[in-house]
Amino acid sequence: MTDTAPSELRLFNSLTREIEPFTPIHPGEARVYTCGPTVYNYQHIGNMRAYVFADTLGRTLQWKGLKLTHVINITDVGHLTSDADEGEDKMEKMAARQGKSAWDIARFYQEDFETDLARLNVQPKAHPRATDYVEEMIAWGEKVADKHCYEVESGLYFDVSTVEDYGRLARAVTEDGEGRIETVEGKRNAADFAIWRKTPAGETRQMEWDSPWGKGAPGWHLECSVMGEKLLGFPFDIHTGGIDHREIHHPNEIAQNQAFCGCGGLSEATNSGARMWMHNNFLVERSGKMSKSSGEFLRLQLLIDKGYHPLAYRMMCLQAHYRSELEYSWDGLEAALTRLKRMVMAAERLADAPSQPVAEHPKFAAALAKFDAAISDDLGTPIALTALEDALAVKKVDAGIKRAVIEYMDTVLGLGLFDLTRETLRIRPIDAGIDEAAIEDALTRRKAARAEKDFAASDAIRDELAAKGVEVMDGDPLGWDWKLS
Ligand code: AMP
Ligand code: ZN
Repeated sequence: MTDTAPSELRLFNSLTREIEPFTPIHPGEARVYTCGPTVYNYQHIGNMRAYVFADTLGRTLQWKGLKLTHVINITDVGHLTSDADEGEDKMEKMAARQGKSAWDIARFYQEDFETDLARLNVQPKAHPRATDYVEEMIAWGEKVADKHCYEVESGLYFDVSTVEDYGRLARAVTEDGEGRIETVEGKRNAADFAIWRKTPAGETRQMEWDSPWGKGAPGWHLECSVMGEKLLGFPFDIHTGGIDHREIHHPNEIAQNQAFCGCGGLSEATNSGARMWMHNNFLVERSGKMSKSSGEFLRLQLLIDKGYHPLAYRMMCLQAHYRSELEYSWDGLEAALTRLKRMVMAAERLADAPSQPVAEHPKFAAALAKFDAAISDDLGTPIALTALEDALAVKKVDAGIKRAVIEYMDTVLGLGLFDLTRETLRIRPIDAGIDEAAIEDALTRRKAARAEKDFAASDAIRDELAAKGVEVMDGDPLGWDWKLS
């Protein structure tokens, strides 16, 4: 599109802690696996940051001309309240609390998750469910059991000392199982983890299967190894997740993958099952870690109920680099919304222009080169957004070409600028009880009164609206007609 050759895509690999050039394993293709949600509850917006990041990565790979296969799994079995195989099963616990079956709980929250993905313009991906792969998980366990596992009362455990470089991803000292409390009877190393958890004698679980190690359920880490291998083939290009997964879940997945492949140590990155491991940093609240149990549950639906368009949240995510911690605040969300609104207003001026085929144009060369350099440098979305704004600010140029440039950049950012309007971005809390049609009607009448210089009538209408909590915004630089005061 420009004279500048597209920049080489470089990404931060958590396994080496270095920024590396991305070279596809299968020429012309990119295969990505993203650890998905445990569907025992709603996802909070921190969780959704992980998928906005993964989606931006996927869009970037496509933008670089690669055919993308992207999986986000659905964990509907096996995840305990602690990532290190301790505590209760999250699914069964919620099922008991709500008096529903674990299966119903899983379906309900998966659907809710998929609704939120769509609201955030996350492109459709494959969403395999763990419970559909139990047979394959058992087969995997049988394959690695002899050399790498041992049985104890509570199930089949993976011995992390049987693979080279266990814990390299976490940079953990594993000899003493730093940070882990050993409560499982008979475990050899504190970091050992369950491949299969037997249902305790005398109990029945809602989700359980027969296996060579007795009736029970698979350990949580196993599903991602199995679905990654089945759906993408080892080694695939990139495995992603939130930064917490760098500590336990992904080191355990890697150990299983090494065992399955009979691979050596991790100096050869592909022995881990993937060439690159990428992790997004956390969305945090000022008070600390975001949680589903304390305070206001920050779901995307809550943002919507308070009147914010969900894509304001995508904008908020893009404004920070994915490897930086991001602090959530309502003011921050409002600022992101305002920025999005400015972009949408500029894009609206191009709405009628037929989008041209993307062509070189000297007026956009600088913005495009900046955009490409920023995105290619480990997904530098904060700078890429400024390049988009540079392009929107270019004057005296064919509207069709401008539209093409903006659309081209937006394929990576996923804001859907040409699908949004000022009206859809208006802050409209669900409990405000406003009748928008009546407001618009009053404004039309007021406009007519003003045109006829009937200022008394015009002021009366303004006061009438003010009494309903609607502020008329004459001459607002952002082009709003009214807002809720
Ligand atoms: P979970 O449903 O707990 O398995 O989490 C789903 C995804 O969200 C995982 O990739 C987590 O690493 C990620 N995650 C959890 N909390 C946050 C947060 N506060 N900010 C960003 N990502 C998170
Ligand atoms: Zn996973």
